[in-house]
Amino acid sequence: MVGCYTNRMHDVPADMLAKIASEIHACTACPLHATRTHAVPGEGPPEARVVFIGEAPGGDEDLQGRPFVGRSGQLLRKTIRETGWREDEVFIGNVLKCRPPNNADPVPEQVEACRHFLMAQLVILRPKVIVTLGRHSLNLLISPELKITKIRGQHIKKNGQLYLPTYHPAMILRNARLEPEFRHDLAKAKALCERS
Ligand code: SF4
Repeated sequence: MVGCYTNRMHDVPADMLAKIASEIHACTACPLHATRTHAVPGEGPPEARVVFIGEAPGGDEDLQGRPFVGRSGQLLRKTIRETGWREDEVFIGNVLKCRPPNNADPVPEQVEACRHFLMAQLVILRPKVIVTLGRHSLNLLISPELKITKIRGQHIKKNGQLYLPTYHPAMILRNARLEPEFRHDLAKAKALCERS
């Protein structure tokens, strides 16, 4: 699936992202399509130097069709601003594009059905740094073996792509003592963007 997007390099990236978004809105490849209100493709400009990837939309995101707009999303967006980015210069998305009922963890079959959308988005975006938020994006994009508590804050280069794993902001809401580490990690991602 990724190849069909890379073969369209004469298309402008914004149009390619919009095409992927329209395919996500029409997707029925896994059972989550039946319970979603809106699919949530992700948002941000094609020239974004940093991409934040969480696990799946929650209730607020499902209602609005936008990523990270609930309580944990507000924390993420506030921390992004306080780190020195404008919200409109970063791309924010998820591994899954539709909400699992009751905010259940993504299951492997759902991730397998959906992953090509994220991979295609990343091929188009080609960001300097991908910040993985929580274990699901860490395990999909970097390695299924890694534990977030062991690896967070350490930048990793894989296949030429720079990654910075950190906590999911929902974890920070559950444990405010982790917030300084979360802030530190976003500041490190900003520094990596600026020097790489
Ligand atoms: Fe399609 Fe992904 Fe939504 Fe499943 S979660 S229906 S694969 S867009």
